[in-house]
Amino acid sequence: MAGTDDKSRSWEPAPDTPTAKATPYLRADADMAKVIECGAVVPGCNFVIHGVDEAEIMVKMAEHLRSAHDVEHLSEQLKVRIRAVIRDD
Ligand SMILES: [Zn+2]
Repeated sequence: MAGTDDKSRSWEPAPDTPTAKATPYLRADADMAKVIECGAVVPGCNFVIHGVDEAEIMVKMAEHLRSAHDVEHLSEQLKVRIRAVIRDD
């Protein structure tokens, strides 16, 4: 390999490297289990749902809302409220 361009590369700041997106803490967050208390969305309900991630919480919450609260369809507004109260387990 020719090392002719080493000098020019060594001091360049390279501000917009695509590798900057691959931050390790994002992977740690993806591995974090989630939990939601239904009472935060439906006052008076003490049902608690655990999931491996937000997507699983949403599926289980939709099932619970349908069977326990007669909510057949999750509106976008309701999904936003649910996501807002999902916590790390
Ligand atoms: Zn509930």
